[in-house]
Amino acid sequence: MNPMPIRLIILGSSAGLASAHRASSSYLLDCGDYGIMFDCGDGATRNFLSMGFRPEWVTHLFISHTHADHICGVSYFVQQRHLSRTDVPLAIHCAPEAVDFLTDVLQSGYLFLKRLSFDLVFDPVEPLTPWRDDHVTVTPYPTTHVDPMRAYAREHGWPDRGGCTAFHISAGNRSVLYSADLGSLDDLKSIPDRIDWLVIETSHVNLGDLWPWVDERNIQQVILTHIADDFDLRAADDAETRTSAKVLIANDGLTLDLN
Ligand SMILES: [Zn+2]
Ligand SMILES: [Zn+2]
Repeated sequence: MNPMPIRLIILGSSAGLASAHRASSSYLLDCGDYGIMFDCGDGATRNFLSMGFRPEWVTHLFISHTHADHICGVSYFVQQRHLSRTDVPLAIHCAPEAVDFLTDVLQSGYLFLKRLSFDLVFDPVEPLTPWRDDHVTVTPYPTTHVDPMRAYAREHGWPDRGGCTAFHISAGNRSVLYSADLGSLDDLKSIPDRIDWLVIETSHVNLGDLWPWVDERNIQQVILTHIADDFDLRAADDAETRTSAKVLIANDGLTLDLN
């Protein structure tokens, strides 16, 4: 039996510094009957709608961390779902420490959980513990991206909103790692799973260090994302001589077939 066709769609490919040309971080797994979203930054909903998707079609939203470029579209997206009057539940998978914060963000915008048209449930992410359905396995791996900021918050008695998580996604015939934001490339080195394709942020990674590791891990395709407007787009040309992997630079709307 042929596997269900599954596509990975880049909804937002910009870095933390807002871009004039890109929405901020958001990625969509099109599983046919339903969608799974990873992060939901500014502009994600607009791009999502412009590609013809319906908000209620997304049934799971994974959040890597609470930086604004990854979550500032969440309440807007939830509002679209509510206004569509759908009764299809939505699960938000995030760090346990982020649940109260995201609940407050929603309820501060009058999106009271008990009054939504659908059940919104939080399913906290457990590091290294896979989430599965019939077509997709998502395994969260912690990164050190926000560790210094968490320490600073704790030092000042402010709430810790949890760590940052990379997501390993097995779907179709591919294993894809979405790095989210990193402390450094070292964060990914202990991940044991096979990685066919790597969707990696470019804000905290030295590309010179990346290519030898990509070849060592036999990664077939690298999608550079989290792109600032001053990013040197010739990086992909340069990569051709430094790695045997195929290298793409993400843009909003880039669609990749995982089968
Ligand atoms: Zn970011
Ligand atoms: Zn970040």
